[in-house]
Order: sequence, then structure tokens, then C-alpha cells
Amino acid sequence: MRPRWNRNAFVYLLILVAVVALFYRFAAPSPEPTEIPLSEVAALVKAGKVEKISVEGDILTLTVREGNGLTEKTSRKESDAGLTEALLNLGVTQEQLSGIKEIVYEPPSRTGDWVSLLLSYLPLVGFGLLLMFMLRQAQSGNNQALSFGKSRHRLVTGDKPNVTFEDVAGVDEAKEELSEIVDFLREPEKFTTLGARIPKGVLLVGAPGTGKTLMARAVAGEAGAPFFNISGSEFVEMFVGVGASRVRDLFEQAKQKSPCIVFVDEIDAVGRHRGSGLGGSHDEREQTLNQILVEMDGFDTDTKVIVIAATNRPDILDPALLRPGRFDRRVVMDRPDMNGRKAILEVHARGKPLADDVDLLTVAKTTPGFTGADIENLLNEAALLAARRDKKAIGMEELQEAVERVVAGPERRSRLIRDEEKEIIAYHEAGHALVMHELPKCDPVHKVSIIARGMALGYTIHLPEDDRYLVSRTKFEDDIAATLGGRAAEEIVFDDVTTGANQDMQEVTKLARAMVMQYGMSKDLGPRTFGRKEELIFLGREISEQRDYSEMVAQKIDEEIKDIITRNYERAKSILTGQRQKLEEIAKKLVEQETLDGPEFEAMFAQS
Ligand code: ADP
Ligand code: MG
Ligand code: ZN
Repeated sequence: MRPRWNRNAFVYLLILVAVVALFYRFAAPSPEPTEIPLSEVAALVKAGKVEKISVEGDILTLTVREGNGLTEKTSRKESDAGLTEALLNLGVTQEQLSGIKEIVYEPPSRTGDWVSLLLSYLPLVGFGLLLMFMLRQAQSGNNQALSFGKSRHRLVTGDKPNVTFEDVAGVDEAKEELSEIVDFLREPEKFTTLGARIPKGVLLVGAPGTGKTLMARAVAGEAGAPFFNISGSEFVEMFVGVGASRVRDLFEQAKQKSPCIVFVDEIDAVGRHRGSGLGGSHDEREQTLNQILVEMDGFDTDTKVIVIAATNRPDILDPALLRPGRFDRRVVMDRPDMNGRKAILEVHARGKPLADDVDLLTVAKTTPGFTGADIENLLNEAALLAARRDKKAIGMEELQEAVERVVAGPERRSRLIRDEEKEIIAYHEAGHALVMHELPKCDPVHKVSIIARGMALGYTIHLPEDDRYLVSRTKFEDDIAATLGGRAAEEIVFDDVTTGANQDMQEVTKLARAMVMQYGMSKDLGPRTFGRKEELIFLGREISEQRDYSEMVAQKIDEEIKDIITRNYERAKSILTGQRQKLEEIAKKLVEQETLDGPEFEAMFAQS
């Protein structure tokens, strides 16, 4: 593209210069008003009026006496004759010639002409260059606009896949479901001869970081099939109508390389319920989505292209995407359970030296709710910590510290806290920990600390013993009480409250509201939900909530929430006043040594 374009520009430039030069030539002929014929020059010489003649090529410049003054006149001689010769031919005598004071022969300065020519055209050349530059800008912009319809997918693995099922751990069911697809991609004939219809589309569903993208690549890797990857959000770009042409282009390329996989990441970006968009962008999305559907429907039985899409919001997808013959297969990528987490830890621990004391099962136990991405991050943090401590291998210490980092952010030991404040923080955290310990449904205390971490001034980490899938009402209430334990302790001990509990208040309100409105756990209002969440499509966030209940019920809901919170606040307070001695003890110990880990904390209760 480039060289050809340059040539074009050069041609344009030449034409431009030529045109301008011609224009100059005709529109402004060089003005020579006082040019006189050579015969007149001879007459002037005869009259003895010529003071000086300078000869420059064929051009004569005469200085002529006129009255008292001097004027300049120009003339022209024949190029093959000398000046004196020419004048003598016109009847001028030698004496008359010698009457001229000076005859100067200047070297014919064609070069001077060129310089002046160049100088006079210099601004023009500058202008031309500017024009060229602008043209180039426009051209490159144009290029972009023209090639915009080409999808920016990359042929990632091509024929050399590098990710396999080995690299994806803890999602055995998903692997099982997808192994059929792998088989098909490996030996499509085996299926097509039997007339089996292979799924055209597979939808991977799971929370962010559960390995959906990884899994899609692993399927291609296992099968050794080319992998076309495009993200849904890439479709939704500047120009209208481009998304659809991108889809067309993508599938065209994919068909040429079949059997292969087309992976549409974040399909929710284009696949939301149609017709529900706000603003102008939904038309574009609809067209793109339609084109995907058209392409998928257009597959012949022998088209060996499998479309895998990923989303973490299957609930908002357009039903048309999910009907049979399209993305009718759903593969759920769950958050891994304990064994899954151990397996993922093992995958990512490859190539990282681990110390002998490391037990990955223990780490897996302390990381409920972690996704694959969290675990990868955890191991990376641990490796960084070990490197910072000049260790040869990653120890258990680093792994535990890394878990806390991932959960609560890095420690900020440098933050200076006055003793007085330190005491308040200590009582606050002791309050949390003590209530947590006393209430049966709360998770065991994993660590209490008054070292600032992330945004928090102190923290109490509690970790469940097992993975939990159901939360009971009593668990909700106990958690609320434990979260209020910090403020309750402040009030009991100092008879005052601080801003330190801000986060706790938000948490508590969220929990109580969810109990009443989402889980139907309120005794008065009964087992039903309140409010329908509406989403603002282009932000993907819920910003309005549609009321499906009356004003009276709204008031009831508020009362109920308030009731839950105050009830549990009193509960926390009564636990703490009943155990005032223990509260003091824990707080003192915290001020002294700043952190208490789980076993240390439990030991304080064993003594008495
Ligand atoms: P998603 O697409 O679901 O948001 P990704 O596939 O991008 O998640 O996962 C991010 C990273 O987390 C992966 O590159 C991988 O290193 C790690 N990861 C996630 N899930 C797993 C898993 N099941 N096994 C191994 N690694 C995983
Ligand atoms: Mg992803
Ligand atoms: Zn708190």
C-alpha cells in the first residue's frame, strides 16, 4: 500500500507545481516596460547620451543621461553577435563607442535565474508538502475507515495450540461436556456419516475469572483446531453497520479454515434482549446480533465451525440466542470447590518452587469463593513476596500473607496511628471477633489485626470451614450481629462512636435489605420478593428499581430492616457486656502485638 501511495502523491504534487507554474507564466508575464529596440540604443550612443552599458547574456542594461538625471533602459541583442559588433553594424563609430564610460560584461547568470525561480516557488513547495501531509493523514484515516468492517479477530492458535485441558483445573463437568466438541473437531466425519447434528453454539456461563476464556482456548488446543477470537464489546464500536459486516467477515474466514472454533467473548455486550436499549447504540447491537444469528442459521450440516460464546450474565441474553440450533448448549463454569481450588493451585504452582512446608490443601481450604483468576493472582502475590524476602522458594507464610492481600488489600504498616486511636481500633476489632466467636453460625475467626490494610484501619478476617451454597436466616442474623460488634464495643467502652464503622454500616444495611426484599425472610412481609431490578442497558448496572409494591409496604420494609438491625445490635451489645472481661483482654493483646491469628485467638478462650 505504502509505496504506491507515495508515488501517487508525488504525481499529484508534480501536476500541482506544473499548473501553478503555467499560471504564473501566462497570468503574470514579466513586466519589461522600458525595453527599447537595439536601433534606438545605437541612436542613443550616437547622441553620446549613454553613460554605461552592462551586458548580461543578451540583455543590455543602459544607463542613459536624460537632462540632468540618469535613467535605466533595457534592451536585447542577438545572441550570436557581440555588442560592439552589433553597434558598429548599426552605424556607430569607434569614437562614439568610446564615449560610453563603461561597458561591463557580466557572466550570463542563468543560475541566478534558477535561484530566484526556486526562491519564488519555495512557499509553493512548502504548501505542496503540507498538502501531501494532509492527504496522507486523510488517506490513512480513510484506510482505517475502509478496513473497519474487517473484524479484528486474531488467529490465536492456528495450527499450533498451546493451551490444553491440562491447564484448566477444577471444572471437570465442563470438560466432560466439551470433550464431545473436541472429538467432533478432531474427526468430523465420524459424526457426519452418522447424520448426527453437532451443536453449532456452546454458551459458557460463569462468574468473571472462572476460566471461560481459558476453557474456550483449551478446547481449540485439545482439538488442534484454529481459534478465532473476538470480543462482543469489539463489535460495538464507532460506526453503525460495522458490527454486522465484521461478523460476516469473521465467519467467512472461519469457514475457510474449518473445522475450527469461533469464540465470541462477552457476548452479553451484543446479545442483550433486543429492543430494550436506551440511547442510539442498540440498533447497532441488534444488527450485529442478527448477523450472528443469520450466520449460525446459514451453516450447512457439513459446516464444521463451532461457535463458543462466553458470558457472566446469561439472564440478560436475548432468548433468540438460546433457542435450539443456536447456543443451545450451556456449559456452566462454577466457582471451584475445595478440591477444584487445590487442582488450580497445582496448575499455577507449576514452575514456581514451593518450600517443603507448603500444603496446598490447607491453602485451598482458606480460599472459599476464590475463582481461578483469584488463585492465579494469589500465587503470583506469594511469589512476589518470597522474592522480596530473598527466599529461594515460596513458603506457607507467603501463601497465607498472599491470601490476606487478595482478600483485604496490602498491609500498610507505615501508617502512623496515635495510641489513643489504636486503642479504639483495638476495641472495635475485638468486638467483631468476640461476637463472631460467641455466635454459632458465624465463620471462625481467621485473623484479627489492627494493622491498616487497604482502606481499612483494622480488620477481622473470618473464613468458612467449608464451601457454602445456602445461607440460612440465622446465619444472616449472626453475621449482622458480628458486623455490628465493632461499633457496639466502641459504644460500651468509650460511650461514643466513631466514623471507623462506616463500612460496617453499609454492609449491615445491604444484608438486612437483601433478607427482606430478595430472600423473603421477613416474618411480617412473608415469603416474597420486592422490587424488580431494571438495568440501564448500556451501563450494565442496575440504577433503577421498579417498585412492585405499595407505599404502605415500602414503609413496612423500612421498618423491618430497621428492626433487624436494632435487634442484632442489641444482641451484639449484650454479648459484649456479658463478656466485658474477655473484650478487654483481647483489645489489650491487640494493642500489644497488633495481630492475632486464628489459633492464638482461640487459645485465649481455652485458658479461662
Ligand atoms: P473469564 O474469561 O471466565 O473471566 P479467564 O479465562 O480470563 O476468566 O481466566 C483468567 C485467568 O485465571 C486464566 O488466564 C487462568 O490463568 C486463571 N484461571 C481461571 N480459571 C482457571 C481454572 N479453572 N484453571 C486454571 N486456571 C484458571
Ligand atoms: Mg474472559
Ligand atoms: Zn468494623
